Amino acid sequence: MIRAPFDRKIQSYQRLLLPKTPAEFKRSLEKSSGRRIELTMTHNHRSMLRSIPLQSGRILVRAHNMFLYAPPTMVSLVGRYIANPLDRIASHAVDFFISGELDRIDAVKKTTRQQVPKRTRGRHFNLREIFQSLNEDEFEGQIQAGITWSKGKRLAKRSTTILFGSFTPGNDEDPGLIRIHPALDQEFVPKEFVEFVVFHEMIHVVIPVRLRDGRRVVHPPEFRERERKFRHYEFATKWENHNLHRFIG
Ligand SMILES: [Zn+2]
Repeated sequence: MIRAPFDRKIQSYQRLLLPKTPAEFKRSLEKSSGRRIELTMTHNHRSMLRSIPLQSGRILVRAHNMFLYAPPTMVSLVGRYIANPLDRIASHAVDFFISGELDRIDAVKKTTRQQVPKRTRGRHFNLREIFQSLNEDEFEGQIQAGITWSKGKRLAKRSTTILFGSFTPGNDEDPGLIRIHPALDQEFVPKEFVEFVVFHEMIHVVIPVRLRDGRRVVHPPEFRERERKFRHYEFATKWENHNLHRFIG
């Protein structure tokens, strides 16, 4: 009789587990620890699990989101550990779980990086160089994001710079990606204008989209203010007005 290897079965079982909600996770922790818990879920990569006993008898717990994927037996071990950090079995089990999840996060990180090959050198403009000089001159080197020429979908008739660039925000494991439309990689396009489009996307990195009355505000007033401070703002906006038809005509 041929049997599937036992540990393979366990692995696929774990991957099929759906994440718990933080409320469910908290309830399970309270049950297994026998204590009242104040829970905060984090993306903090340095401290995956912290518990601080409060004078009220409650325990303050800060846990990485990975724990929402922990199987039930693991969650009860986390509860045991929180109730008694000196519980050797529980503490080893928690460490083991964390290191396994970190390995998995690393593996995902590698594949996502491979999925988006970055192309920064165009025929006329080098995006990496433009990004770096803007970063130093305008953002004190603070901007962390990837940049690439995009695949060049057809341009829609919209008369703003959104047309030429986009920014996909990242997370703890990935700094996000700026994409610039390859239609800008042409001889008649002045470098100042390419810089302006890259500059615009870089502002998106520092001024994230926010919600106001349930609506997304992509370019709030402070965004436009920052944009106007671009060193070639007048030139770039004028050039855009006069030349937009050449891209979408
Ligand atoms: Zn924008």
